[in-house]
Amino acid sequence: MMKVAKKKKIEENFFTSGIFTYESCGCTCEETSVSANISTVPMPAIKLTADTQHKINFAFGSKVGLVRLNDDGSIAESNLLGKLIAIDRNDISGYFSFFKNNGFLFPIAAGKSEIIGLAELQFLVSRLQATLELMSTITDMSRTSYEKIIRMIFYHLFAPVVSVETINGKFKYVSDIHQYSKYLETNKNSARDPRLYDTFNNEEFAFTDNITSFTLNADFVDSVLNGTPADSRYETSLFQNVFTAYCSSRESKPIVMLYINDFVFHYFYEVGIIDHVDLERTHYINDSVQKEKFTNKLKKAAVAVAKYIIKEEIESNLRRVRPTYNTVLLEPAWKIDSLFSAMYFGLFYMRPNLETYRRCANPKCGEFFPVPLSSRKKKYCCKACMNRMMAAKKRIRDKLKETKE
Ligand SMILES: [Zn+2]
Repeated sequence: MMKVAKKKKIEENFFTSGIFTYESCGCTCEETSVSANISTVPMPAIKLTADTQHKINFAFGSKVGLVRLNDDGSIAESNLLGKLIAIDRNDISGYFSFFKNNGFLFPIAAGKSEIIGLAELQFLVSRLQATLELMSTITDMSRTSYEKIIRMIFYHLFAPVVSVETINGKFKYVSDIHQYSKYLETNKNSARDPRLYDTFNNEEFAFTDNITSFTLNADFVDSVLNGTPADSRYETSLFQNVFTAYCSSRESKPIVMLYINDFVFHYFYEVGIIDHVDLERTHYINDSVQKEKFTNKLKKAAVAVAKYIIKEEIESNLRRVRPTYNTVLLEPAWKIDSLFSAMYFGLFYMRPNLETYRRCANPKCGEFFPVPLSSRKKKYCCKACMNRMMAAKKRIRDKLKETKE
């Protein structure tokens, strides 16, 4: 019995069935600062120097995720995706140790330092985290929080564009502005649907969209479209843009954009108008958020929108991954341009009906770890975290006992 268990242990630690591999090199990091020009405040940045002697190999396999390999093919570090996004965004030394072990997220020049703004790095990692969290939340229905789905949807829809250039501009990464943001921009000055002009003969206008059928007061429609609503909350530019797009003709518009806009409109109109979101919180323009109006129809629409966002986000980040043929093994293989693409490729291969990512319940760890959907109770990434939390809880219990005595 003992022998079998031991053999299994060794096999698990070796990487056998890989879906893709990626080779990179280590780097050294230093804190620095950059300013766009002499009159702007310098911003914190990281200076990276490639350590070309230190070759690093990565592999991705089902169950283990993206891992770093030792020279002998055993796993040196697993769950790199979960470890990267668990780094506190302001913890520069946390990034340093990650890059020292795993190299930078993008290829960097040999024999020349690269400077990457900390803000850009934070945005890139946060967006990766938002996608992972959105995927995990909609798949792990036992724990699904619609509040979080909404937050992550809006995070993606209005994420800022971030660009990073390395190797003298030979490598360039630009994050995508979401199609929906572009859609709102192009429809900003769209004329209203002709039937919505006749406010003389109509007290109400009937609407049928992808989510529901309902009516709006004709004067309300008219005043918001003219930019003179009675209630100031409808004056915010985002609501104005959403409503203008909503009231324009639906003809020849992409069905997905119509669907997202129907969802955003209903959410704003019925639940609350969002000002902005960050990874931790949704900020509404005022406190009158009507959570009870978040109906099952809207919840269903939220999940559909979330799925579309995940698709777009992963596809746009896999544009530089291409199929290639391994002539030694006569097998299909993938050519991957960067560690960052490899992270998204990991999400691409995640099987959301079987597995999800959870955040370790040890607040000092916070790592996102892969877990089978069937295991509902697993709260900690590893035994050490579980033991630490158990011990902490015991200490609290003992203290309480002491004070009672
Ligand atoms: Zn942990």
